[in-house]
Amino acid sequence: MTQHRFIMVTFPTQGHINPSLQLAKRLIHITGAHVTFVTSLSAHLRIGDSISTPSGLTFAPFSDGYDQGFRSADSTQHFMSELKRRGEQAITDLVVSSASEGHPYTCILCTLLLPWVAELARELNLPTAVVWIQPATVFDIYYYYFNGYKDLININTAANSDPSYAVEIPGLPLALKSRDLPSFIVATNPYSGALSLFEEQFEKLGQESRPIILVNTFDALEPEALKAIDKYNLIGIGPLMPSAFLDGKDPSDKSFGGDLFPKSKDSTYLEWLNSKPDESVVYVSFGSISVLSKIQMEEIAKGLLDSGRPFLWVIRENQKSGEGKEEKEDEELSCREELEELGMIVPWCNQVEVLSNPSLGCFVTHCGWNSSLESLVCGVPVVAFPQWTDQGTNAKLIEDMWKTGMRVAPNAEGVVVGEELKRCLDLVMGSEELRSNALKWKDLAREAVSEGGSSDNNLKAFLDDIGGGCLPA
Ligand code: UDP
Repeated sequence: MTQHRFIMVTFPTQGHINPSLQLAKRLIHITGAHVTFVTSLSAHLRIGDSISTPSGLTFAPFSDGYDQGFRSADSTQHFMSELKRRGEQAITDLVVSSASEGHPYTCILCTLLLPWVAELARELNLPTAVVWIQPATVFDIYYYYFNGYKDLININTAANSDPSYAVEIPGLPLALKSRDLPSFIVATNPYSGALSLFEEQFEKLGQESRPIILVNTFDALEPEALKAIDKYNLIGIGPLMPSAFLDGKDPSDKSFGGDLFPKSKDSTYLEWLNSKPDESVVYVSFGSISVLSKIQMEEIAKGLLDSGRPFLWVIRENQKSGEGKEEKEDEELSCREELEELGMIVPWCNQVEVLSNPSLGCFVTHCGWNSSLESLVCGVPVVAFPQWTDQGTNAKLIEDMWKTGMRVAPNAEGVVVGEELKRCLDLVMGSEELRSNALKWKDLAREAVSEGGSSDNNLKAFLDDIGGGCLPA
């Protein structure tokens, strides 16, 4: 096989860094490739010592002008334009200097929200592919939204529209209500900047002939969605997760290795988990970005206490200080002492290690795509508690396609009250069916990445196709 040299460009958030790092490790493992990981200096500084550097992986961070990290008061537009301007320069410099040193790059990969990378790769005459870190289903929905479905979706998701209306997207097996669509395309979406980035991404992709989209999913998980659009070559190469918790090929690969948050001392929460009976613990995490309101945090606390089960709850430091919010959440939890008698609160943990612990009974998750996949790979059923972006769609897939969990119902004010959380916990923890479905997906996920499995074959075929780095005529 050709000795590839990849540049992997990653948006500087946890949900992008984790699967990209894992893909980098897999590329190195399969072909002995070299991967240069390119992301903002702000993320690189936060990762600090936790970064893992298997041989073949190097890091080339660049300053996007926001080295202390993006804050909610900053201008998103300015941040994005600086990320692009400075990122283009950094990547061009890398490509030019390594070519002049006699070891040119052979391909540029990039995650979402960086629509300019594909264009740059074309200018530099290098093959490129998008690493789609959300489900194929979400890719298809965006595609059809930007190609003929915008008006239909806008009319039917406006403030006073009928909530029972469900749109049918060509090629997808499920009809989708407003709450099941990616939040950025719902008419009431306040984040127009995010939607324009997706629009730009699809515009740029539309200029290429059958562009390659490497999707963090696997064939058996989304068979229809991967084939729903002929114009694009969607390739399932996932799940992208540390090998020790997936195929076991590399038992030393026990974490993604790029945490943006300092975690508690491993031994404390792992020892605590180890002291609990099998399938008894509720794990609660809302990922790396979502910040919940004080009211919502109190209701979760109530639900956990009423449910009476041991729990491990991740409350991040930036959620505590309410960065981007006026109120402080964690410090004012009214029942902190009672909570700590029953469960454990940590600022961050090694989530895949937690989900793989035999004590895990259920995962209360915001349904970020990585967390959703991790729940499947670990065979843990889910209480789906989506917040925004692709999470509503992921919750729909979990509940109605894979049948590994149930979704909470918020009240008229949009709050999920304690009783509702308790109701869902009782149902999910008591359901043999949900657990056995989760275990079925666990097996299928492992099969997909094993030697000769669909994701293994797909990734190898992609590497063959890009050959030695020449663009196809
Ligand atoms: N994660 C973790 N420790 C935590 C919480 C989350 O390692 O305490 C990881 C989790 O395993 C996942 C990522 O952070 O890989 C979160 O990505 P996801 O797509 O689920 O959500 P996002 O943070 O992008 O909203």
